Amino acid sequence: MQLSSLLERFNEPETLKMAKLGRELRAQGIDVIDLSLGEPDFDTPQHVKDAAIKAINDNWSHYTPVAGFLDLREAVCTKLKRDNNLDYKPENIVTSTGAKQSLANAILALVDEGDEVIIPTPYWVTYSELVKIARGKVVEVRTTPEAGFKITPEQLEASITDKSKVFMFSSPCNPSGAVYTKEELTALAEVFKKHPHIYILSDEIYEYINFIGEHESIAQFPELKERIVIINGLSKGFAMTGWRLGYIAANPAVAKACEKLQGQITSGTCSITQKAAVVALTGDLKPSQEMTEEFTRRKNRVMELIKDIPGVKCFEPQGAFYIFPDVSSYFGKSDGTTTINNSGDFCMYVLNTAHVSSVMGDAFGEPNCVRFSFANSLPNIERAWARVKDALAKLK
Ligand code: PMP
Repeated sequence: MQLSSLLERFNEPETLKMAKLGRELRAQGIDVIDLSLGEPDFDTPQHVKDAAIKAINDNWSHYTPVAGFLDLREAVCTKLKRDNNLDYKPENIVTSTGAKQSLANAILALVDEGDEVIIPTPYWVTYSELVKIARGKVVEVRTTPEAGFKITPEQLEASITDKSKVFMFSSPCNPSGAVYTKEELTALAEVFKKHPHIYILSDEIYEYINFIGEHESIAQFPELKERIVIINGLSKGFAMTGWRLGYIAANPAVAKACEKLQGQITSGTCSITQKAAVVALTGDLKPSQEMTEEFTRRKNRVMELIKDIPGVKCFEPQGAFYIFPDVSSYFGKSDGTTTINNSGDFCMYVLNTAHVSSVMGDAFGEPNCVRFSFANSLPNIERAWARVKDALAKLK
């Protein structure tokens, strides 16, 4: 069979591949602890579930407008004002089946063949692949743990060319946990002001999972707002990954373009989810805050556990629910049977020996690191890291 050449241009998500390998080992009766996947291990807040049940009983069972119900788009605007002090109208908002689709819409709406898309490393696995799907050119800018895994204004300036079309990043960042402060964003904004041909995709899906204070959006700079596409959704902050609700806030031309694309691919997202999302976005944030408190406890514990493991250097995450340690000191070592040559080998060794799944850093554009989630219970986290420590001790 001759499949399309498109399929050869991009990779399947490494995160999903690792989760699949973990499931296969589990099916063989092995007790695998999954630290590979990126989803909260909490239940969706009760008031949101109640709203969904009500929506079913009220027969919200038909097709919806492609961009989402008007009351949902208004709820997104209410949220953006309440949490971020940003003024948007429903015409700026397009809801979708998840931030992943919103990102895909935005990239396909903005990127033409050969356009350059600047992405600081480490980045979420899907960013580079979406750019490849759109036939754009990925321009990686390598950040370091010493720089807090953040791009500096100088690095940004140096990466910009006439062909630059989009800059995309997440804060809080998956996988590094870096969170940009207002000062850091101000410095980047100064660079963007000098280059009016660049759009900025600001992925804020981990907004609520922030350990250092207020979330700052780059959309707060009025001179840039027209060129900014905020990407957000309910998956992380409300523990609603399976409900599939993402959204963008963008200028009306970009919003219309995303709506046009989505109209030929999925149409509007699930009607029940949309009705529940109105309640999530405008309702009580206490359950979300409690989740973040629990993530903070786990982050602190993981940072303690990892201190005891020789050769693992780890930047302390400021948000999201991952640690992204540098494990390169293990490259070249062996347990007598398996030699670790790169982060992929490291992950496979940890999976096969410690039965803990993780994701190799290459998938995020950072080959020295590996991503371990702490979206798992504290007892599982304790067990997982004890096993990883034992497995790593065998490497000489
Ligand atoms: N952006 C980032 C940075 C993510 O980590 C994820 C999910 N892992 C998404 C977007 C996609 O989220 P959604 O479930 O809303 O599609």
